[in-house]
Amino acid sequence: MKLLVTGGAGFIGSAVVRQAIAQGLEVVNLDALTYAACLANVDSVAQNPRYRFEQADIRDPAALRRVFDIHAPDAVMHLAAESHVDRSIDGPGAFIETNVTGTYNLLQAARDYWTAKGKPESFRFHHVSTDEVYGSLGPTGMFTEDTPYAPNSPYSASKAASDHLVRAWAETYGLPILLTNCSNNYGPFHFPEKLIPVVILNSLHGKPIPVYGQGENIRDWLFVEDHANALLTVLDKGRVGRTYNIGGENEARNIDLVHMICDILDREKPDKTSYRNLISFVTDRPGHDLRYAIDPTRIREELGWRPSVTLEQGLERTVAWYLANESWWQALLNRDGVGMRLGQAG
Ligand code: NAD
Repeated sequence: MKLLVTGGAGFIGSAVVRQAIAQGLEVVNLDALTYAACLANVDSVAQNPRYRFEQADIRDPAALRRVFDIHAPDAVMHLAAESHVDRSIDGPGAFIETNVTGTYNLLQAARDYWTAKGKPESFRFHHVSTDEVYGSLGPTGMFTEDTPYAPNSPYSASKAASDHLVRAWAETYGLPILLTNCSNNYGPFHFPEKLIPVVILNSLHGKPIPVYGQGENIRDWLFVEDHANALLTVLDKGRVGRTYNIGGENEARNIDLVHMICDILDREKPDKTSYRNLISFVTDRPGHDLRYAIDPTRIREELGWRPSVTLEQGLERTVAWYLANESWWQALLNRDGVGMRLGQAG
């Protein structure tokens, strides 16, 4: 099986690439290498004869056609995207171009390639999306695969649009698709602009730990290695045309999550006072969704998949990884916008 992974130099895509290689698949990693990419994420597999890298931009239809022609993949797993909500508030255009138009380009390239091959039933176009397309929950309830879409940020709206395109390419052209919507990921190789790495790295630098609003927002947290495993499970066993929600079964308020990380650091790398003293409440993000929660019944009952770690276990592994891999994150701290407060425009 030869899998074309888009966005394989990013956080989740690189976890998919590493696991797919470990499972014996051939992998073609297509990535434009934007500010969010880091090829070091796939260093451990870069010399494997089953691994190939193609620097290409999904906004460039000709480049996509060339990659399909050269590599003739059996399946596509599409993760390439602009992924940071705060950046989408400051500059939504890039999110429309990559997440919407880029997904359209990839669908067209995949459809033409699949048609030229005689429309093999075994082909898959697996689109990786987010639970943020469903909007915000109140204190109760959970997102199922039938929850109506109600995206609130430019990021989630662009992902929702891409999901609709994928669905339409299945309904209209018969493209064999799979769609997954998952909750917030965390773990090794997480780019240092996202909440969990920010908490760890600001703590290590003795800098204030910014918590939006009062830290009351609730997210379901999914360990990235579990997510990669779920994605490969859906690709292998998922029913064609179907959506699967992927959750971590680990809901937490942001402030409780930050406390958990500070407590782990207090144990693993004690300082004079607790890292909790660095917590600083800052102006909330405009349109900040209160709560996301995933009902994982479908993937559990149909595919037998469940997350393997609790939030506490996953955070311990994540903190340990950041402590042991300083050269990885040091190299990223000077990238455009990292360490700055973004996304305040209301
Ligand atoms: P990321 O920002 O870490 O990585 C994205 C990758 O895509 C980068 O390597 C980047 O270079 C590449 N890319 C961006 N624009 C491109 C373009 N025009 N052409 C080719 N490559 C391009 O993102 P991530 O957190 O790994 O997320 C991967 C996917 O999973 C995204 O589609 C995202 O919407 C989805 N997702 C992420 C989360 C999360 O918590 N991180 C949760 C749910 C869904």
